[in-house]
Amino acid sequence: TTQEGGPRVVLVTGASSGIGEATARRLAADGHHVVLTARRSDRLDQVVAALRADGLSAEARALDVTDHTAFADVVDDVVRAHGRLDVLVGNAGVMLLSRLDALRVDEWDRMLDVNVRGLLHGVAAVLPHFREQGSGHVVTVASVGAHEVSPTSAVYSATKFAAWALTEGLRQESDPAVRVTTVSPGVVDTELADHITDPVAAELMVGYRAERIPADAVAAAVSFAVAQPAGVDVNEIVVRPAGQR
Ligand code: NDP
Repeated sequence: TTQEGGPRVVLVTGASSGIGEATARRLAADGHHVVLTARRSDRLDQVVAALRADGLSAEARALDVTDHTAFADVVDDVVRAHGRLDVLVGNAGVMLLSRLDALRVDEWDRMLDVNVRGLLHGVAAVLPHFREQGSGHVVTVASVGAHEVSPTSAVYSATKFAAWALTEGLRQESDPAVRVTTVSPGVVDTELADHITDPVAAELMVGYRAERIPADAVAAAVSFAVAQPAGVDVNEIVVRPAGQR
């Protein structure tokens, strides 16, 4: 059945690059049907074409997670088409680091919108279906920043503390048939830091990101959590470069 290690229907947010793309590829290779979502649908289409060429099962849907209604519509469509949605991987995120006194209020709002509200929109979209089908799994991609703060990371870390708290709250409130996993990566080789605009933060990142692990290492952690039999809930996995302090 879908709950005993068989194929699941999985939706991944932020699947157009980095950890989300690697996770979508890995879960498809594991035999699941993967719905890849993000804003850049051209990139999603390329990944889906490559997966299908390998005989794997995947589809792409354009989705901006800050749009609550659009998120619910995509999830409802997936459930209509496949009869169920087993796993939500809430991965979409932005990391626009800066010191608080740089007052980059627009970037704070952007991080809160994508990393916190975007995650909540996913939870809101899937919970009614999880209730109806009597099972489900939310995998949140948080960060080591869900456990620690450093200069320039205050707001980003706040969004990841929030992601951790929301996922733990969901665990406590959910029917035991609904599983929750937080995956907290350290430094991963992706496009994430390329979007930092603050020069002070960008400079700090150079040394911090010297040691990196590939996105596949995080995808493997998600795959492990998803593969557990019903009743076994892997609640958190921290994956970081062996040399990261
Ligand atoms: P990338 O920048 O490569 O990927 C970010 C993804 O998020 C993209 O697919 C992007 O797609 C998507 N995204 C951004 N904004 C939105 C939006 N409004 N709606 C939907 N999707 C959106 O970085 P990573 O792969 O590194 O990041 C993935 C997650 O991993 C993030 O939550 C990040 O915080 C977390 N993480 C990353 C670490 C790292 O070192 N790389 C360390 C710890 C955690 P698009 O632009 O097409 O919409």
